[in-house]
Amino acid sequence: MERILIKNARIVDVQAGKHLPEGTGILIEGDRIQAMPMLEGPGEKPALPGDLPDCRVIDAGGRTLIPGMFNTHCHLHMGPRGIVGARQTVKSLADCIDRGVTNIRDALCYDLRDSREWSGRIAKGSVAGPRIQQAVHISIEGGTYAPVRHPKTLLQLAAIGLRPLDYERVESGVITLRPDAPPQDFRDAVNRAIDLRGAGAIKLCDQPEHFLSYQPGAPLLSQAQLDAAVDQARVRGVPATMHNVTAAGFRRAVRSGMTSTAHIPLDALLDQADIDAFMTGQTMFEPTLSLTYFLCYHLRGSRLCGDPEIDRLDAMRSPTYERVIDESWIPELRPFRMGIHRMLAAGNPKVLGLIDVGTPFNYYQPIVTTGAENVRRLIDAGAAARLSCGTDAGASNCGPAAIDLEMTMLDFALNRPGRNPLAGADFLRTATINSARSLGLEADFGTLEPGKVADIAVLDGNPLADWKLIGRPVAALFKAGRLVVNRCGLHFDCRS
Ligand SMILES: [Zn+2]
Repeated sequence: MERILIKNARIVDVQAGKHLPEGTGILIEGDRIQAMPMLEGPGEKPALPGDLPDCRVIDAGGRTLIPGMFNTHCHLHMGPRGIVGARQTVKSLADCIDRGVTNIRDALCYDLRDSREWSGRIAKGSVAGPRIQQAVHISIEGGTYAPVRHPKTLLQLAAIGLRPLDYERVESGVITLRPDAPPQDFRDAVNRAIDLRGAGAIKLCDQPEHFLSYQPGAPLLSQAQLDAAVDQARVRGVPATMHNVTAAGFRRAVRSGMTSTAHIPLDALLDQADIDAFMTGQTMFEPTLSLTYFLCYHLRGSRLCGDPEIDRLDAMRSPTYERVIDESWIPELRPFRMGIHRMLAAGNPKVLGLIDVGTPFNYYQPIVTTGAENVRRLIDAGAAARLSCGTDAGASNCGPAAIDLEMTMLDFALNRPGRNPLAGADFLRTATINSARSLGLEADFGTLEPGKVADIAVLDGNPLADWKLIGRPVAALFKAGRLVVNRCGLHFDCRS
């Protein structure tokens, strides 16, 4: 088995939020970290445990090593199909590797053939990309993300690049059950999602409004149905995640022992009992602020138009969004994405004069007030260790690699002059070990430790001191022990 020793590196222990003692190296064997021996020092022949023939040595030049990073909530196949869509997917996947993001979750994909095709290409090595954990959505008929298959609905979905198949087909990323289905049916559905559709995660949804219309009346799972689905996912060793935008939904998710929740309640403030229940449990949360803040502009006629918090957001986001859009999208799609942002920034809810987005944007706007306050309450209660990094890429205006945007939005929501609940170590844990937990992958990923998969990002600079390095292009990257990005000219020095 191939062995690689990395020396002269500053290795970050993300759990402790500090560097390991100077002189610590990493020994990779095959795709895993085999040991982290103390070496004699830069330029010296390393003191290694045992005999290591054929070990190749890399001098990291004093750079920082951190674990491969995560995006826990993306949608890779939202947008145009065909050649343009494929070009965008190749770019989105390559960007992840370029920035050291080695694991992502696709939180909902209506046609699993898309997901299987790209995962297959990555596994074969014909396309560069992260590992993709594909969620399969289990819903009640007519639930928010299992819209009724009406020609008008299908047309609206097609307009935003979604192609829902008949939910009975094994290629469908959605399974539906009758509203009165007994809890056992939800256990069976979890088994079908895993065994027949290849689910790496179970996605549930708790939003009382219909997708597209945002009118109330979408059916919700009962607590017993939710508990059964979450418990069966746990039995099968697969994480369960839930789309949630209400305080009542958040409560139900926490009560069920959900692995993680996506988004944040925006209809009401979480009270002390909610916070206590959350802190007592294990549920992780990904506020996906990259998406939710994107849905807040001073739109004409919207309920929070004129809110000073949106002014503060506007001052920060124009330059931020334009850079993110430039970096995330291929030239063919960039003008459309930029056009949406600029029209919204001008207060016009009719994107490109055609698509009226006023309804969803109005619906989600309280994220800047109630939603952000809920994130602050959780963090103030000590939940920074439960915060994971999901951007809702595809639905938001960034690609899956742009986890730097989520860091920026978390900083915007939480940190104020004289009040900084999140420091560099918190941001780093959010992008690594916390997110690994959300994906149920913490045994193999999320820290640099012997026994874990050798996903190692090499950075110029210290992310503990400067969180803005997180999610920017890396100097080099090892994925499963293979050097797949090498921007800084690392070279092997063969000395067995
Ligand atoms: Zn999503």
